[in-house]
Amino acid sequence: SERTLVLVKPDGVERGLIGEVISRIERKGLTVAALELREVERSIAEEHYAEHKEKPFFGELLEFITSGPVVAMIVEGPRAITAFRQLAGGTDPVEKATPGTLRGDFALETQFNLVHGSDSPESAERELKLWFPDR
Ligand code: ATP
Repeated sequence: SERTLVLVKPDGVERGLIGEVISRIERKGLTVAALELREVERSIAEEHYAEHKEKPFFGELLEFITSGPVVAMIVEGPRAITAFRQLAGGTDPVEKATPGTLRGDFALETQFNLVHGSDSPESAERELKLWFPDR
């Protein structure tokens, strides 16, 4: 069994899609092992998106992710990292995510793509330590 960090980003929380995200995670057979609604400190956001520091959209990305509460979850199950990435769909909700995925069904813009899921075992370990240091 594997653990991954899932975030319902501020757009998903604001639009009332927390339940939709959790429901799809559970219907897939994955388990929510920890869950917290929280404001995101700037330092956590910077750390979380460190790999994008040099990107032109980095400033906007930090603004967005700290703009309102997110739901942070530890999601667990066999191949949980890849399984959740499939539920989420591709980063660009129109060009890459297909209908039937969270982003494909509920998002229009790359900047406001609803959810985050760790993209590798290394990222998952790093992100889980950052968001859930005690777990
Ligand atoms: P996440 O890390 O949030 O799960 P991802 O792994 O699918 O997304 P990344 O390429 O790591 O995609 O980008 C991280 C996040 O940065 C995206 O989810 C999106 O919110 C934002 N982002 C990526 N590319 C752009 C862009 N061209 N313009 C604006 N925002 C972007």
